[in-house]
Amino acid sequence: METLTDNQLTRYARQLLLPQVDLDGQMRLQRSCVLVVGAGGLGCPVTQYLAGAGVGHIRVVDPDQVELSNLPRQVVYTEADVGIAKVDALTRRLRAANADIVLEGCVGRFDADAAQGLLDGVDLVIDASDSNQARLDIDRSTYERQLPWLMGAAVQTAGQWIAFDPIRQGGCYHCLVFADGDEALGGCTALGILGPVAGMIAMQQSLAALKYLLGAPLPWGVVHYADGWADEYSSITLTARPDCPLCGGGD
Ligand SMILES: [Zn+2]
Repeated sequence: METLTDNQLTRYARQLLLPQVDLDGQMRLQRSCVLVVGAGGLGCPVTQYLAGAGVGHIRVVDPDQVELSNLPRQVVYTEADVGIAKVDALTRRLRAANADIVLEGCVGRFDADAAQGLLDGVDLVIDASDSNQARLDIDRSTYERQLPWLMGAAVQTAGQWIAFDPIRQGGCYHCLVFADGDEALGGCTALGILGPVAGMIAMQQSLAALKYLLGAPLPWGVVHYADGWADEYSSITLTARPDCPLCGGGD
């Protein structure tokens, strides 16, 4: 029977005290595999918290190298990392924090072609991509495999996050995007962002991920908005569209 080592009991002592985690939950986290799409403002804190909590297998995919303009919000990186592939710098830092877990860094983008390999063995996908096309690809490829995913986006002083259930009972990302007339958020590159705003959304995604992996219910299909400057927070329930090109049975 699987059990935790003395070292793991010490490392995870504070979260093991929580009835929501306990030994069973810690073993669940250890057996879990999460794909994080993006190693930027959302992906860095998300992977750090998942690695810290002992999620046993974390795969992260990103095509970019660390740039100086990343450092204000991607605070895991240092000046010495500039010019290095983000996934290499990030996995090195995560490995230094927790040598007990499996870390995979994949240089590249998430798209329909890459999905097959990237989703192999994955329990949950976290979008940290800053790309609407990547989100559409994540939505489609996880829907085909009945996997849940957590969308996240942050730009300027506000962000949003949504949990999509494995079979999209509460609707899918395509329902949202097409209902809003392709509501592209625009990227941080063009519009700017305040660092802690990305962190705020990443924390919501991290917490939702741990809850899901621990077997707790999530607010599936609820769009959560947060404006960190105006200090305004709201949520609306997504409406599944019967004519949705992905989940509406229209194909
Ligand atoms: Zn849909």
